[in-house]
Parts: sequence; structure tokens; C-alpha cells
Amino acid sequence: MTLAVSETVRALGNRSEEMIRALAEITETEGQITRLFLSPEHKRAAALVSDWMEQAGLTVSHDAIGTVCGILPANRSSSNKTLLIGSHIDTVINAGAYDGPFGVVAGILAVSEIQKRGIELPFALEVLAFGDEEGVRFPSTLLSSSAVAGVAKPEDLEATDADGIRLCDALKDFGGDPAATAKAARDPDSVLGYLEVHIEQGPVLEAERLSVGIVTSIAGANRYRVTLSGMAGHAGTVPMHLRSDALVGAAELICAINQIAHEANDHGVVATVGELSVEPGAVNVIPAEVVLSLDLRAATDEPRHEAARAIKQAADKIAAKHGLSVGFEQYHEVSTCLCADRFQNTAEKAIKSLGLRPLRLMSGAGHDGQAMSQLTDIGMMFVRCQGGISHNPLEYVEPHDMGLAVEALVRWIETIAEEERAKS
Ligand SMILES: [Zn+2]
Repeated sequence: MTLAVSETVRALGNRSEEMIRALAEITETEGQITRLFLSPEHKRAAALVSDWMEQAGLTVSHDAIGTVCGILPANRSSSNKTLLIGSHIDTVINAGAYDGPFGVVAGILAVSEIQKRGIELPFALEVLAFGDEEGVRFPSTLLSSSAVAGVAKPEDLEATDADGIRLCDALKDFGGDPAATAKAARDPDSVLGYLEVHIEQGPVLEAERLSVGIVTSIAGANRYRVTLSGMAGHAGTVPMHLRSDALVGAAELICAINQIAHEANDHGVVATVGELSVEPGAVNVIPAEVVLSLDLRAATDEPRHEAARAIKQAADKIAAKHGLSVGFEQYHEVSTCLCADRFQNTAEKAIKSLGLRPLRLMSGAGHDGQAMSQLTDIGMMFVRCQGGISHNPLEYVEPHDMGLAVEALVRWIETIAEEERAKS
């Protein structure tokens, strides 16, 4: 990296940190960061983002569901398509400062750099600051990006929060227009793609000593309630060979689930048992029934289905061995969302041009890209976060890594522009 590039990266990193700090100060709870969808704090954050967008030379508007949209028009005589860049400015309760806001900040700074450097693009750029990604206040999630993608459901506006406030009423107070949310939808023909820069929320980049990485897919997920049923009995009188101990079966099953995920590690399979309940749950009673949760994810769909089949087979074997019955109830399934090859390849060129190793990795967490992929091709870049920690006040990203990510985003957009020009 030349001295001039290092200087630019340093300045972009410092500016990112300043902007992140300014957003972090907008919170409903003193000493924490909490900014829920359509809250007064969300409105103040949206106003601050609008100001920054205007200062960066963007034309700003707010769509009917409260998304802040800043447009940089294309140069004359070029295509009428728009490349969207976005992330979210809502947070979980007692959140970190970077999850979401950094993607918006990176988009604004990249567009500002593109203008400063006189880079001509054959498409328009639009930075989007979504409001409902975390899905904390209302049962809906990804509602803002779903509206832009044209897949939001009208019934989502009828949802209520814990205080009984309807989403559509909160939206009116916010300054949005519940009756016009369909108008937030974009015409797929007008959009070139959607890019998002986001903190990794995991430990892979840190372990690989890399500042940024290229996302291959947003993992699909299945969730199950698994019930093992045996027979309760007296802990003192029933001999070991005559027991049907549901918890012993559950323990073996948890180890088998762990083993199956380890063996499919190359396909990004991860499996977690995070909840366990034991009935009757007494010190001197053989456990009759155990219910455990299973969260199963993978980089693509087939290995996830394969792992689910292997886990069910293992459960049947274990149940037979201990005289138990076993049932799987699936209560959640989301398919894998693939990042477009063209955006992965252009991101790789951009990252290599900075002298960095272009690692590709999957996203185990959900993102706005899942909704946006129903409108257009998506591409995502991850930034290293300390300890892989997120959804936590300890969340931290080095300013240097943020500077590199913004510079990589500028180069990513430039590389996409070169490819578009070569096509026409
Ligand atoms: Zn996020």
C-alpha cells in the first residue's frame, strides 16, 4: 500500500469512528445503545444520517416506511440503473455501536470519496439506511428492506409492540405513511444490485488475521424442538439395565449432533443445542422426558438438509438403544441466500488491489441482504470485529479496519463500474 493510500485509509477510519460515536449517542437508555424501529431515537438517527448524506452531496428522501435514501445520480449518457448500498440503523437492546451503522457510514463515506476523486460511474448510487433489521420492537424483521424489495406484507403493519402500539400508528408518528408502503418497492429493472458492508459478528476474520472478507452466502437455518420420551422411575429401585432414561439419550444425541456438524465443517455446517428441559426434573427420579432445541445452519442448503437427515438417523438409533421414543418438530426454516458470483469476484479484485488476502466466508447471521436478494443480486463484505463479539456493548472494530473497508468499498464500486462499461 502506498503512503498516500495508507493516509487515506487512516483518515477514513477516523471519520468512521467519529460518525459511529455520534450515532451511538442517540439512545433511549443512558449509558447503553438502544435504538428500536420507529422510536424517537430512530427518528433522530435518521435525521443525522440525512444530514451526512446531504453533506456528501446526495439527494435525500425518506420512503414511506422510514428508510433514509440518498441518491448520487449517474453521469450523463450512462445507464439508468442504480447500485444500492445499505445497512440498518436500528439496534437490539443494549447493543454495540457498529452492527448496522457501520454499513451506512461506509456507504456515505464511499460515495463522498467517489465524488472527491472524480470517479465517473455508469450507474447511479443510492445509500439506504434501513430501520427494521433486528426485529426487536415488533414481531416483524427486515421490514424496511422487504418494503424496498417489494415483498413486505400488509399484515406486518398491523403488528403491535409490547406496549400495544400498532406498527402503522408508530409509523405515522415517525412521519411515515402506512398507506404508501407499497410505493417503497423498487422496479427490479431499475436496480443493478445491492451491496452491504457489515461487521462479521463472528471470530473467523480475527483468527485469519484479516481486516475484511467476502461473504459467499447468508446461511439458511432450520430450528427444531426435539422430544425424547422414556419412563420415569425411582432412582434407587430401578436397576440400570431396566431404565428408559430420556436424559441419557439426550446427552448422547447432543454429542452426536456436535460430531455430525464437525464432520460437515467444510460445508459450513454449524449445529447448536441451546435449550434443554427435563421432566419431571427431580434429584431422585429417572428423567421421563427431555425437550431440546436444535439450531442448524450451513453455507448452502443441501449440506444442511444432509446434516438434518444424519441427526434424525442418529436420534432413532439412540432412542432404540435406550428404549425411548423421539420426535422432531421443525418450527422455523429459512433457505440459504447466495451472494452473486459477480459481486464476490469484483470484491476479490478490490481487496487484492489493497494487497490483502481475499478470504471468502459465509454469514451465519441474518442480514437485510436476505430481503434484498428477492429484488436483485446481492454482495456483502465483512469487517473484522474484536473477539467476534456483537449484540453487546463490548462490540468493537478498529478504525484502521473500518478505513480499509471503506477504501475496499470504493474500489469494489469502481471495479463493478469497469465491468459494466466493458459490457456496453
Ligand atoms: Zn446488523
